[in-house]
Amino acid sequence: MTLLCVFLCSFNLFLFRIQEAAKLGKKVMVLDFVVPTPMGTTWGLGGTCVNVGCIPKKLMHQTALLGQALRDAPKFGWKLDDKAVKHSWDTMTEAIQNYIGSLNWGYRVSLREKSITYENAYGEFAGPHKIKATNNKGIEAFYTAEKFLIATGERPRYLDIPGDKEYCITR
Ligand SMILES: Cc1cc2nc3c(=O)[nH]c(=O)nc-3n(C[C@H](O)[C@H](O)[C@H](O)COP(=O)(O)OP(=O)(O)OC[C@H]3O[C@@H](n4cnc5c(N)ncnc54)[C@H](O)[C@@H]3O)c2cc1C
Repeated sequence: MTLLCVFLCSFNLFLFRIQEAAKLGKKVMVLDFVVPTPMGTTWGLGGTCVNVGCIPKKLMHQTALLGQALRDAPKFGWKLDDKAVKHSWDTMTEAIQNYIGSLNWGYRVSLREKSITYENAYGEFAGPHKIKATNNKGIEAFYTAEKFLIATGERPRYLDIPGDKEYCITR
């Protein structure tokens, strides 16, 4: 089988690359699997940037900027209601998670539209051109490919030093 087999990555760049391969008539497959963090957290298709990196971070920054703008607004002529403006952390996190969910879904649709197979499975090389893919039920499948694009990223881990469990963020 002519198969370009991929672990997922910063998604837009990745999508561009594999779509080009698919356009050239290559049979393309994506493997992406999120091993749970020490807190048991997992997330959807799109890698670190979309799920727990750039995107949620920027939306939180935007939340803070809006709060500051509301405070500054009266000095520049805006008349706000007398009631104190309050922030709801729950509303913010729900909105951010909904947005991320829409991106996860959009990526799945993009892959399907390009006839790119997506497997939510953990990949390990089982030979020079062979991958073992294990899904979350422990079911194994083997795939062969001519070429592999690997972008596995990195995960935070405890440093095994005094205070790491108290002060390191591992969500
Ligand atoms: C809080 C935070 C904020 C950030 N903000 C920015 C920013 O503003 N701008 C910026 O440019 N960068 C930012 N980054 C960095 C950016 O998210 C990463 O540089 C980028 O996501 C790395 O892409 P990657 O493809 O190498 O890995 P990842 O995006 O981590 O993707 C790798 C994927 O492969 C999966 N995987 C790993 N091993 C396997 C395997 N064996 N089988 C199957 N799947 C596997 C992983 O679970 C993951 O889904 C931020 C990161 C964090 C944590």
